[in-house]
Amino acid sequence: MLPFARITIIGLGLIGSSIARAVKSRAPSVRVTGHDANAQVREDARGMGFCDDVCDTAGASVIDADLVILCVPVGAMRKVAEDFADDLPAEAIVSDVGSSKQSVADALGAALPGAIIIPAHPVAGTEKSGPDAGFATLFEGRWCILTPPHNAPDDAVERLRIFWQSLGADVELMEAAHHDLVLAVTSHLPHLIAYTIVGTADDLEGVTQSEVIKYSAGGFRDFTRIAASDPVMWRDVFLANKDAVLEMLGRFSEDLTAMQRAIRYEKGDELEALFTRTRAIRRSILEQGQDVDEADFGRGG
Ligand code: NAP
Repeated sequence: MLPFARITIIGLGLIGSSIARAVKSRAPSVRVTGHDANAQVREDARGMGFCDDVCDTAGASVIDADLVILCVPVGAMRKVAEDFADDLPAEAIVSDVGSSKQSVADALGAALPGAIIIPAHPVAGTEKSGPDAGFATLFEGRWCILTPPHNAPDDAVERLRIFWQSLGADVELMEAAHHDLVLAVTSHLPHLIAYTIVGTADDLEGVTQSEVIKYSAGGFRDFTRIAASDPVMWRDVFLANKDAVLEMLGRFSEDLTAMQRAIRYEKGDELEALFTRTRAIRRSILEQGQDVDEADFGRGG
């Protein structure tokens, strides 16, 4: 039983359409209304039928909602919220799924003064985008982090917690700034490394592109999966979470330099000690059900 009767989802791509599908598969009587700025996406969504109704404007889509979830790139959150601010029912809860949280909290707070805002981030995803990429089971067994501001009503936080649990997610509450630091190292930095290494391989002169592709099973192809993630979404994540990403990038650069020295001075013990420690982290991730034991990474933004 979902604690909401009329849910509006704005942004009908991978995450938005997955939420809609998950709601309709678990609670068909809950009304799901959608909106997307992209007319083609609206048309596709109507054809796929995962929403009861798809509106042409953000304002029309929220008019009688009790939960509004923004599933657009983090850089677009403020504009979307401004678009529907005049039509938002006073008692509606506004949430989002953005991959950075402090900047979204600031943007929504500025656009919707007095509204009940509870930012959230389901740590689940794939490298694909668009309404056809979504699926109803995306959130099962994945974490969803809520970052309620201090003045958020407890009952509203509880309803949102139950909502995400009903979609199969495990829910944790966190300060927005802490979320941004944790995700900088677990998600944003890995994406930055993948984008960089795939770019480096593409720029090489002594090794041909066909050789890179042919021998990619050596490890490179796993990075290409992450580096295929949506360019607009990730542009926005790095700009929105700039401070935490730069902090983690500084730490990473130092550790990379240490690795460079270990290789240069042939300190095999140092290399082996690190690689042994990192294996244990992989084991813990498998033990906690956050991955399966096969090569297929790059999930979750
Ligand atoms: P997506 O598949 O690209 O979907 C986003 C949709 O929002 C697109 O259809 C886009 O239209 C639309 N949109 C953009 N600006 C809009 C606006 N101003 N008003 C209404 N619609 C607008 O992206 P996604 O992967 O679902 O990501 C959505 C959000 O989820 C992002 O904030 C991201 O950080 C977060 N997230 C993503 C993942 C992941 O793994 N992908 C995981 C967790 C959280 P256009 O196609 O025309 O741009």
